[in-house]
Parts: sequence; C-alpha cells; structure tokens
Amino acid sequence: MSVPAMWVGVRPRYARYVLTASERDVLRVVVIWKAVALFLFAGCNVAVAHIADDDVSGMKKGYDVRGTSLVPVYPQGYACSPLTSLYASWVDVDGSHRQEIHTGVDGGRLGEWILAPGPGVVKAVWEANWGWGNEGALLLVHKASELNLDDGAPFYYTVYDHLRYDEIKHLQVGQKVPRGMQLARVSRPGGHAKYLPEVHWEVWEADADRLTWTTNRFGGREWRNRSARLIDPLYMLGLHEPPEDDRSVSVVPFDPAADYRTFPGFTYIFDCPKS
Ligand SMILES: [Zn+2]
Repeated sequence: MSVPAMWVGVRPRYARYVLTASERDVLRVVVIWKAVALFLFAGCNVAVAHIADDDVSGMKKGYDVRGTSLVPVYPQGYACSPLTSLYASWVDVDGSHRQEIHTGVDGGRLGEWILAPGPGVVKAVWEANWGWGNEGALLLVHKASELNLDDGAPFYYTVYDHLRYDEIKHLQVGQKVPRGMQLARVSRPGGHAKYLPEVHWEVWEADADRLTWTTNRFGGREWRNRSARLIDPLYMLGLHEPPEDDRSVSVVPFDPAADYRTFPGFTYIFDCPKS
C-alpha cells in the first residue's frame, strides 16, 4: 500500500486570515471577470457560480476530476486514518495503476466509522454495483448555508461507496444528519476479501437538488443530477483555513465538544483519536 509522502503531522493552525471588505471586492471582480471571459469566449452556458475553478480561498476545486495539487496534512498528536488515494489520481490504494481517473478520495481502516463531514440530509441509500459486486452506497445532501458557505452553488452532495448495505439500510431518505454522525463502517469493494478496505468518498457541487436514476452495465442503480459537478473533497476540508501555499490542507478532525456554527466546509470523515 502506498502511504502518501505528505502524511506528516503539523500542529493545527486555527488562526484564519480574514479578508478585508476591499480585498473581497477586488477578488470578486477578478472572479466575475474570469467568468464573463469564459462565457464570452468559450461559449460556455453553465452557471456563473460554476465557472471559476478557484475562489477567494486560492484553492482549486478541480471541477470534473481535474487535478488540484491539494494534499492532506493531519494534525500532530492525532492518529488520523490517512487518505490513501487522492482525487484525480491514477494510482490506486495498492499502488497499482487505475483503469480510470479517480473521482473521489479513498481511505479508512477496516471497520472504522465514517463520520458525516457536515450537517445534511440523507438523499439516497441503495444497493449499488460498480463492477465489484453488490455493495451499499449512501448519498447525503448538504445545503451551502448549513456549511456556512455564502458564495457558489447552493448544494453539495457527498457520496460514500463500498459500504455494507445491511449496515445503512435503516437510514431514511430525508433523515437529518448532524456533523460527525457515524454513517457506516469501512468495508471492502463488493465486500470481497480480495480487495483492500476503503471507503470511496466523492463530493459534488450542485445548482439543483434533483435526482434521476438509471441502471449501469453491472445492473446497479446509479443516480444522475445534471447540475452536479465533481470537486475535490480536500477543497471542502480546507475552507476553514485556506492553505497559505494553495496546496496543503489542514484536516480538522470532528470534535463533539466544538462549536461549528461558523465553521465553513467539512470536518474529516474519520475519527482521529489522540495519539
Ligand atoms: Zn475511490
């Protein structure tokens, strides 16, 4: 298994640089002009909020599985289960070359709980098949306002694959999910012992919260949302403190005692016990 070289702890830095009103205005103008230019010259007809691939945070979102260079940095003194394969990577958890570019991030140890990265609602719980056999899949929808995000798309989807369906089938569509809720435990693709344990976690940005369903070539159900675009989950994990080098995302473990009323974006999807 390849352990990313960036798995070295640093002390969490919680001080946030707050932009002044005039700095925000300048950055907004830059972003808007980028959007207008793309609209005019690329013949693009998608929503303006979705055109700029970066925002005032400086981080790239990586729309449609474009590489972002974002890497996770885990807090010192905590034993976080690391992400083992990153977004837009061609390298799999076991170090082998992927058949397709990676649409999310992988991680987790067998049996480890996966935690909700932010408050939201259960959108879908289903038995999926992506070619590895039947497995459970879960889709949550998070409103931007719940995540303390003022700009951009109104909805974010988080998707969790390679779960055990019998562990998640009790979840009800429409059920509220608080940040840090235990969603399911890390299993293996299709539940097969021959695959390494992992959860595959995707994040989508969406203008509208509407799903349609289709059946894939493996007979599994697949959702569609025409307004949704994949982004790098690390972007959402970095919003609380945009990285100074536009690259190193300080992962924040969920703390049941913390106050998240103004915390923007996501906390980590695995528990990080103090080491
Ligand atoms: Zn994956």
